[in-house]
Formats: sequence, structure tokens, C-alpha cells
Amino acid sequence: MIKARILALLVCAVFCLSCPSYRYGAMDFISENRNKIYKKSFCEASGPFPQMILIPFFKETFQIVPDCRVYPKNQTSLAMLVFYHYWTEYFGDDDFVVKNSLESLMITWGLNKKRSKKAYNLDGEMIEHATVIGLTTSKTTIWVWRGYDFKISESSFIHELVHVALRNMNGHGDRDHEGAKYSGWTPAHTKLVSEAKETLRSFGI
Ligand SMILES: [Zn+2]
Repeated sequence: MIKARILALLVCAVFCLSCPSYRYGAMDFISENRNKIYKKSFCEASGPFPQMILIPFFKETFQIVPDCRVYPKNQTSLAMLVFYHYWTEYFGDDDFVVKNSLESLMITWGLNKKRSKKAYNLDGEMIEHATVIGLTTSKTTIWVWRGYDFKISESSFIHELVHVALRNMNGHGDRDHEGAKYSGWTPAHTKLVSEAKETLRSFGI
């Protein structure tokens, strides 16, 4: 009897291990029904600016927009789904830290670039009096310049989402990227950014 039970358990274990199962990914955001909350939230071209708009499919994520071109909320949402797709492909997200960080984000879009006393380039070199096109200001807030040609793919949006993910995972966003001063950002993160941006280009956004 006990032997039969052990055998049954083993068969079950082997069977389950061989079953391909869906784990998690960008589709998790889509499968949660949030139609009610985001139907009411849209950009009013005639209204005063800035306006705060809820991002479809993301629980408590908002964008503050300086006008309705930057950006239609469905475009921002799609860019975030593309980011999360690549993040889970590259690094996984077993404890949903990255998913949760995307669920409570405040994105501020800007029409003008900013100046910063110091910033780091991708190789980790410090640049003084740099022109800045994106900032991760806390675990839950980013500022992003609108990008070239009014395209999210030509902005630093995906780049800032990597900083947000790292900041929520490690307590800091690794401001010097691939440089050695801070840890977190690797060449794989740089590759993720360029692949995700390429995908956004194929969507025309
Ligand atoms: Zn950066």
C-alpha cells in the first residue's frame, strides 16, 4: 500500500515536472480586469495642464502629462508591457518585485530636457553639467523627457524602468550603469533596453 502511494507520488511528480506551465509575464497585467478604473481617466486636450492620467492594466500607476501628445495612455501601457516581457525573459521576477514596482509608479513626462550638475553615462563615467533626458527620482517616481520625434522608443522611458526595477530590488538604482562604483546594472540590462526599444519601434510608438 505504502509502496503504491510512493509510486503514485513519483509518477505525479515526474508528470508535473514534465508539464510545460505558464509562470508569469506581461500577460499577467492584461488578465486582470481593470476596465472600470481606466475608462474614466483620459487626457482632455482643452483642459488645463499638467494632467494626471491612470495607465491601463497597471493598478496604481499614473502619468503626469504636459499635453495630450505625451503620451496617449495606451502607448505608455504598451511600452510598460514590452519592458516587463523582456525583464521576465532576461531576469525572471519570481517574487514579483518588478511587477509590483510597475503597479505603483508615477511617471512625469517633460517637454524640455534638464540640466544636472553631474550624471553618469552608460560606461560609468561621470559627466559634469550634463544634459539629462530621464531621472529615476525614487522607488516610485520617474521623470522622462518626451523623446525625439514624440516617440517613447526615442525617449529614456525603458532605461528609467530598469533603474526603477533595480532600485526596488536592491535599494538603489545603480546610477553609474555598467560602471564599477555601484552594482546592479550589467551589459544584459543595456541589451534589454535596446531590444525593448526596437520592439517599440516595430509598434510605431
Ligand atoms: Zn541611467
